[in-house]
Amino acid sequence: MKQFNSFHARLVLLFGILFLAVSVGLTAYLDRLASATLAKAAGDALYSTGNSAAMLISRTLVEREREIRLLSKSHLLTLGDLQGAEVQQLLNDIRQSYPFYAWIGLAAPDGTVLQATDGMLLKQNVAQRPWFSGGLERSFVGDVHEAVLLARLLPQQNSNEPLRFIDFAAPVHGADNSIRGVVATHVHWGWVHDVLSSVLTADAANSGVELLILGSAGHWLHPYEYIGQLAVPADLPPAGQVALVDWADKQYLTSRIRISTRLGDDLGWQLILRQPAEQALAPVAKLNRQLLWYGAMTLLLAMILAYRLASHFSRPVEQLASLAQKVAQGGENVVFNVSSKLTEIRHLSGALSSMMIKMAAKRQALLQANSTLEQQVATRTADLERANARLQQLSHKDALTGIYNRRAADERLKAEFATAKRSSQRYAVLLMDIDHFKQINDQLGHETGDQVIQQVAKLLDNTIRDSDFVARYGGEEFIAVLPATDLHGAVIIANKLCRDIASLDFATAGRVTISIGVAPSAVDDTDADTVVRKADAAMYEAKRAGRNRVMPQG
Ligand code: GH3
Ligand code: MG
Ligand code: MG
Repeated sequence: MKQFNSFHARLVLLFGILFLAVSVGLTAYLDRLASATLAKAAGDALYSTGNSAAMLISRTLVEREREIRLLSKSHLLTLGDLQGAEVQQLLNDIRQSYPFYAWIGLAAPDGTVLQATDGMLLKQNVAQRPWFSGGLERSFVGDVHEAVLLARLLPQQNSNEPLRFIDFAAPVHGADNSIRGVVATHVHWGWVHDVLSSVLTADAANSGVELLILGSAGHWLHPYEYIGQLAVPADLPPAGQVALVDWADKQYLTSRIRISTRLGDDLGWQLILRQPAEQALAPVAKLNRQLLWYGAMTLLLAMILAYRLASHFSRPVEQLASLAQKVAQGGENVVFNVSSKLTEIRHLSGALSSMMIKMAAKRQALLQANSTLEQQVATRTADLERANARLQQLSHKDALTGIYNRRAADERLKAEFATAKRSSQRYAVLLMDIDHFKQINDQLGHETGDQVIQQVAKLLDNTIRDSDFVARYGGEEFIAVLPATDLHGAVIIANKLCRDIASLDFATAGRVTISIGVAPSAVDDTDADTVVRKADAAMYEAKRAGRNRVMPQG
């Protein structure tokens, strides 16, 4: 989930979820709204077809009933000769007026048929027929039935469907209100086909709409092929309503409408309309598909928009972050020139810019101070080094004569001793003392004494070789260290020094001599002082021997 930690990714996610929620919500809402509207429209269409059919059926029933009732009240029947040709003519005329009248007849109160169109059933007794017993008392409408007698007499139809009829009958009363007979008609059930097909448009038929008639006993009356074959669903919607109902084979949008005749004999018929759900709701399914498609498109566009929006918002922040990273990695000339319409980003960019300028100025000042400091340190170091060198020099030089002092002599002796130990190279030491110096001091003054010391030192220093070493070792005592020199060589040098001093003209002091003890280093010397002690001993020997001379050790 590390990739969701960037500002950009979070923004894409946020906008994405937002747009997803809005577009899915909106699509779902529109889908529900439109689906409900379309489903209702489908139901309404079904219902209105059914309503027209129901009204037409009921009106036809009422018309037939009225026609027979009016016929029963015609003067020809109430006053005339019931078996006369005029009545015969009237019945024929009426039958011709409506194509579905199969038969119209007149029966005497005892049930004997007095008149009948085409002479059918003439003279037969119909006293047992429901229409006759019902028609004796009132205007009668009988439910659909197969008429066995009549069917045999009527021409066969080109259909598998047997002939069925519904009966209308009415009593004929005389002027004295006595019963004269019963007039009745059998109407071909075919009229229902006629009515229903007139109502059902080709469009509706093509989209699977079916009109069914359910009789009062709960059996199908129409269409014939469903009678005894198609189970009546238990959960038909209440009359006047539409619902989705599971029939034996599949789901149908179903409506139930009561066919009301407002006659005495209400037949209790109900018109059932059904249309396969997939056909009834086809527009809904189509709309769903379209909405899904539009929804997907909208979502895609929304996602692109989300990505672009997120990029738009996060780009300046990303630019600032990458510039800041450059600064963190040591970039010095980073310019924060992020352009954005967002005030905060502009402020941030500006603030970082001025911070960079200030930082650069401070760095410059720091560098300047640093270099000044370094210069000062270098100067001071050089001063110190010079002072140190001077101190070193001072600590190793004799103040009166300017040649090396005893400290320097001791160090040199130690160094020579160490070198000799390593390389078994021999060296020699001369110890020199001015003769009768106390007298010079006493007779000529201390100052002259100092001058003599200075002059002796100068001569010694000038005479010995560069590789040799000479120092003031005590008051008027000097030492010389001669590297790589044996006793013989050392004695030669000592003699030369002795002679040079003796022949030197000391301005106020006149002639001055020195005595020199000479000793070579030995392999078995225990320390640097051993050879000095031997030279000292030799020097005292020289004094004792009369001074102004060189005395080698031993
Ligand atoms: P010797 O021949 O035996 O060496 O006799 P000497 O008179 O030289 O005797 P010694 O070496 O004992 O005397 C040294 C004198 O040198 C003693 C001291 O007063 C004097 N002296 C030591 N240092 C200095 C100095 O720096 N300047 C002066 N003017 N005199 C010094
Ligand atoms: Mg002395
Ligand atoms: Mg002396």
